Amino acid sequence: MDFELSENQRMMRDMTKDFAAREIAPLAHEMDVNGEMPEALIAKMREAGFFGLSYPEEFGGLGLDTISYGLVVEELARQSAGVCIMITVHNSVGYYPVAGFGNDEVKAKYLPRMAAGKIAAFCVSEPGAGSDAAALQSTARRDGDHWILDGSKVWVTNGTRAQFFVILARTPGTEGHRGIHAFLVERDTPGLEVAKKEDKLGLRASDTVVISLDGVRVPHANLLGEEDHGFRVAMTALDGGRIGVAFQAIGIGRACLVEALKYSRERQAFGTSLSNQPVIQHKIADMVTELDAARLLALRAAWLKDAGMSHTREAAMAKLFATEAAGRAADEALQIHGGYGYVKEYPIERYYRDVRVTRIYEGTSEIQRLVIARQTLAGKIS
Ligand SMILES: Cc1cc2nc3c(=O)[nH]c(=O)nc-3n(C[C@H](O)[C@H](O)[C@H](O)COP(=O)(O)OP(=O)(O)OC[C@H]3O[C@@H](n4cnc5c(N)ncnc54)[C@H](O)[C@@H]3O)c2cc1C
Repeated sequence: MDFELSENQRMMRDMTKDFAAREIAPLAHEMDVNGEMPEALIAKMREAGFFGLSYPEEFGGLGLDTISYGLVVEELARQSAGVCIMITVHNSVGYYPVAGFGNDEVKAKYLPRMAAGKIAAFCVSEPGAGSDAAALQSTARRDGDHWILDGSKVWVTNGTRAQFFVILARTPGTEGHRGIHAFLVERDTPGLEVAKKEDKLGLRASDTVVISLDGVRVPHANLLGEEDHGFRVAMTALDGGRIGVAFQAIGIGRACLVEALKYSRERQAFGTSLSNQPVIQHKIADMVTELDAARLLALRAAWLKDAGMSHTREAAMAKLFATEAAGRAADEALQIHGGYGYVKEYPIERYYRDVRVTRIYEGTSEIQRLVIARQTLAGKIS
C-alpha cells in the first residue's frame, strides 16, 4: 500500500490551490451575498482548464484520474463550495452519462465542446421524485428519428448557464425503473425553458433552477445508453458524482478547521488563548481526525473507480462519512468562534450554510445508508 501522491496529482492539487487562493477567495464573500458568479471568473476557469478536468485528452480535456480530480475538487471547495459544485456537476454527473453511454457520434460532437467550457447540467429530480428517482414523471415519446420530451425538472445545478442537459424521462404509462431513458439535450432546443431560479441557504454562487420541457424534440442519436436503461445511466453517474461530493465536503471541512485554528490561537479568554484550553483542543482533534478518515474513504473510492472496480458502496460510504464529518466540523468551528461565528464578518458562517446541502444532494445521508446496507446485506462485507 502506498499513501504517496504521484507528481502529477500533487501538481494538480497545488496548481488549483494557487488558482483558488488568487482568483476565487477574493470573490467568495461577494458571490455569497449577491447570489451570483461573475462571468469573468468563469472565463478564467475555462482558460485554466477546469471544465475539462475529467474529459479525455483526445477530446481536449485534461483526462485526470479520479484521485487528482478529487484533490482539485477539495481545493476549489475550500475557497468556494458554490464555484466547486459548478465544476463538479459539469465534470461528473453531467459528463459520465455522455462519456460512458453516448455513442461515438455523440461523444465526438459534444465532448470537445463540453471540455472547452460549454457547461453541462444533470436533470433527474422532479417535484414528485427526489430520493425516489424512479418515480419521475417527465415523458419521452418516440417520433420517428426523434423523441419528444415533456415535463419539468427541479434543482438543476448550472441550469442558468448550461449549454447541455442530461435529462431523464420515461415512456408514458411505464412505472418504476423500467421505461426510463436518458438523453443529451442542447440548450437552444425549442420547448426547453428555465422557469425559476432558487434562492438558497448556501452555495449561493451556484445557480439552481427549475426547467420546463414542452414538446422538446431530441434526435434519437442523443439517447444515452440503450432504451429503458436511463435509470442505470443515472445511478452509474451518481456513483462517481458521490466521490466528488465527498471531496467537496472535505474541502469545506478543512476550511472550517483552518478558521477554527486561527481563531482559537488569537482569541483570549481566562488569561490565555482558546487554543490552550483542553476542551477546544479536543474539538480540534476530533475535527482533524474525522476529516482525515473522510479523505481516506474518498481516496479509496476514487482508487476503486480508477481501477475499474465496483465502487457503489465505497462511494456511498465516502459521501456519507465525509458530509457528516464536515457538518460536525462546521458546527464545532462555529462554536469555537462563539458569537463571532454567527455573523458575516467571519467566513465560518458561510461554510456552515454551504456544507449543509452536501448531506442532501446526489443522494441524502439516509439514501447512502440504504445503499451501504443493501450491498452489505447482499454479502459484500469489506
Ligand atoms: C442545491 C441543490 C442542488 C441540486 N442539484 C441537483 C441537480 O443538479 N440535479 C438533480 O437531478 N437534482 C439536484 N438536486 C436534488 C437532490 O438530489 C434532491 O434534493 C435529493 O435527492 C433529495 O430529494 P428531495 O429533496 O425530493 O427529498 P425527499 O426525497 O422528499 O426526501 C425528504 C427526506 O426523506 C428522507 N427519505 C426519503 N426516502 C427515504 C427512505 N426510503 N428511507 C429513509 N429516509 C428517506 C430523505 O433522506 C430526506 O431526509 C439538488 C438539490 C439541491 C438542494
